[in-house]
Amino acid sequence: MTLEIDVLTLFPAMIEGPLAQSIPGRIQEQGLALIRVHDLREFGIGRHRAVDDTPYGGGAGMILRPEPVVAAIEGLRRPDSLVILLDPVGEVFRQARAVDLVQRSHLVFVCPRYEGVDERIRAFVDLELSIGDYVLTGGELPALVVIDAVIRLLPGAIDAQSTAEESFTGGLLEYPQYTRPPVFREMSVPAVLSSGDHGAVARWRATESLARTRQRRPDLLLPPEVAPREGD
Ligand code: SAM
Repeated sequence: MTLEIDVLTLFPAMIEGPLAQSIPGRIQEQGLALIRVHDLREFGIGRHRAVDDTPYGGGAGMILRPEPVVAAIEGLRRPDSLVILLDPVGEVFRQARAVDLVQRSHLVFVCPRYEGVDERIRAFVDLELSIGDYVLTGGELPALVVIDAVIRLLPGAIDAQSTAEESFTGGLLEYPQYTRPPVFREMSVPAVLSSGDHGAVARWRATESLARTRQRRPDLLLPPEVAPREGD
């Protein structure tokens, strides 16, 4: 089944360019994902196709008006749609959410700009996602991050073993990886990796994965209800 994705943005080229390259481009050529990009300006108000206005109560910047954004969402929504707003106040995007999203059939991404959205727009989306505790100029890069993380999980997109064994999939960080040469600047590849003993390699990797997680991201080892957020 093809995963259909619609993206609403004021800057379509920001989405189209990166997704045409490399693995995301190949995923679309293979027909695993169908990504359509829509210019929010087409839903703008009046002769100037206005999509934003000043905030009630004063303050810096412009806010996206509800009429154009909601008209665009309503034009795309189907019974199977999940409409996602990219927003710093949203749920922090993690691999588990990517695994959830790849099982859907239709995703709609709303990419705001300026100072964000009129609060009433939130009533028309199903999920709000943040890609981390920092502020970007718009929702395009966050949408690309989420789309890339999701479509590479589509069956047939990339080697299934790659996604089965990588960081976060089993709740841990990935084990160290090596390629040629066997010695680089006095640093040797661990002997077990060229031993030909698949069981020993698997055990080494499991141990290293756990040790690396314990050292670098101990929060991943805590039960979700007590785990502090990254950066706390
Ligand atoms: N005034 C907003 C706030 O303080 O939360 C920030 C607005 S930001 C300058 C403009 C847009 O960029 C946001 O509406 C959102 O779509 C996007 N954006 C910025 N940082 C983001 C993040 N960490 N995750 C997801 N979207 C983000």
